[in-house]
Amino acid sequence: EMEVAVKVVIVGNGAVGKSSMIQRYCRGTFTREYKKTIGVDFLERMLEVYDDPVRLMLWDTAGQEEFDAITKAYYRGAQACVLTFSTVDRASFQAVRNWKKKVEDECGTIPMVLVQNKIDLIDRAAIDAEEAEALARELKVRLYRSSVKEDLNVSQVFTYLAERYLAE
Ligand code: GDP
Ligand code: MG
Repeated sequence: EMEVAVKVVIVGNGAVGKSSMIQRYCRGTFTREYKKTIGVDFLERMLEVYDDPVRLMLWDTAGQEEFDAITKAYYRGAQACVLTFSTVDRASFQAVRNWKKKVEDECGTIPMVLVQNKIDLIDRAAIDAEEAEALARELKVRLYRSSVKEDLNVSQVFTYLAERYLAE
């Protein structure tokens, strides 16, 4: 059987939980400690989709997202994308459209998913549920609400993306 390998880029403003999401999914760990990056280009995890093995390579940004300085090497060859914002950071929500455009400029049309992370902090939400749903409709992507901290809906995001990728 041929193994499929998929490069996935995780984009969004700083501190929305991108590095944490990658670590949670690939290593099963979470830390409250603020870490800008996971320290390597990507981590990987195998999963099975429709009985076929898929290797997901989850690429972390170098923590330079605040300066719009992500290199072309980061985007090169990306085959799927996670658009991420934080429940408690309105600016990160407003930046999603720009992130999507940036990925499409570099990668063309690839499977994408919208993730509202830090849903455990819903009591302090800076975005209404309807607003998030409206954005997902506008961008024509599925919305997941996740908590990397509580390990809620993280693996579902990547299973969905892998399925979308294989369905293309
Ligand atoms: P990045 O800059 O997007 O890579 O964000 P990080 O992964 O470095 O996370 C920024 C901060 O948010 C860290 O302190 C994480 O522990 C925290 N964090 C990440 N995900 C969650 C979550 O689901 N809930 C909460 N409460 N904190 C989170
Ligand atoms: Mg990071």
